[in-house]
Amino acid sequence: MVSRDKGFSTKAVHAGDKRGSSTGAVVEPIYETSVFAFSSTKQLVDVMSEKAEGYVYTRYGNPTTRSVENKMAELEQSEDAAVFSSGMAAIATTFFTLVSSGDHVVSTRDLYGGTLEFFNKVLPKFGVEATLVEATDLDEIRSATRSNTKVIYAETPTNPTLKVADLSAVAKIGKEKGATVVVDSTFASPYNTKPTELGVDVVVHSATKYLCGHNDVTAGVVCGSERFVQELKKMRKSLGGTLDPLAAWLLLRGLKTLGLRMERHNSNGIKVATYLERHPKVKTVHYPGLESHPQHAIAKRQMTGFGGVVSFEIDRDFETTAKFVENLKLCSLASSLGGTETLVTQPVTASHYFVSVEDRKKAGITDQLIRLALGIEDPEDIIADLEQAFNKI
Ligand SMILES: *Cc1c(COP(=O)(O)O)cnc(C)c1O
Repeated sequence: MVSRDKGFSTKAVHAGDKRGSSTGAVVEPIYETSVFAFSSTKQLVDVMSEKAEGYVYTRYGNPTTRSVENKMAELEQSEDAAVFSSGMAAIATTFFTLVSSGDHVVSTRDLYGGTLEFFNKVLPKFGVEATLVEATDLDEIRSATRSNTKVIYAETPTNPTLKVADLSAVAKIGKEKGATVVVDSTFASPYNTKPTELGVDVVVHSATKYLCGHNDVTAGVVCGSERFVQELKKMRKSLGGTLDPLAAWLLLRGLKTLGLRMERHNSNGIKVATYLERHPKVKTVHYPGLESHPQHAIAKRQMTGFGGVVSFEIDRDFETTAKFVENLKLCSLASSLGGTETLVTQPVTASHYFVSVEDRKKAGITDQLIRLALGIEDPEDIIADLEQAFNKI
């Protein structure tokens, strides 16, 4: 293990690796095996009962997935971590570990669509109710808690309007109320925000986004205390959302360049947001790095950079907004974020397509809203692409 006082990128490159293995390979191999053999029944039983270290079956654990878990634990400054086959598998398994029938959850309202669906449709089937509150209203969060509230859940920055929840304050409410505070930090990445430093108990990520970083892997990660992760892994064994070793290896590789990529996402973010804010055809820009952002002060306190997602409204109708998006050439019309390629969506036809008009209105998601998930291309080229599309409307 790399000691905690090393820099972020040093940890991202070296933490969790097993230098000194018999072959001398500098890079962790891919243990693409579903099962492990034993020389005796006693040895098998010792590993099964956790008396001895080892691996039995890849759904339970695998050396490649273990390496990436160790690296993630260091990057999120948590005791341990577990990886999953997707961000949603990570989130669902976290909830099935933390709540039982009769429990209550408080969550911020602006959520990833899959998580919102999970709170509205899945948890109620198991007798768990979720109350959704405004991410930026601490009083509303506090007063929504009940004696049976087990989890306070927040996403920050939020999708697609980039609201920022004050994590230290939310963590304090969790302590006060005896609830576990879980944060989906996908939009921040461990480079930009360290939720555990702010008192958050559990950090989840869709590793499909910044962590893997190349728009080519689906994965999830959960970081937390050793005790919690132990329980979480038992639940993962039952629900089966394990990450395949090859995907784990790609995540290991992606993480090594996370610091470099985040620097570029952050600088592209502020450059493009500033360009958009000055553009006469743009009505509003949502980006936590802009002074005009309502939670800019909180963002400055809890983030070291503001990421690559910028959303903005243009001064036109739905059809013209759709045309604008279609006219972009470098930026692809696609739903994800955090990868090397710049992607663009009109949230009303993408992430919020199935959300009612009323709920969209509440969340500030208009027909004219465009979400840019900036990649790591040169900012001048992204801006030139936007400019040529603006010139056509
Ligand atoms: C993409 C995303 C998820 C879901 O992750 P998958 O890897 O697609 O399952 C969860 N939360 C946020 C904030 C996301 O952007």
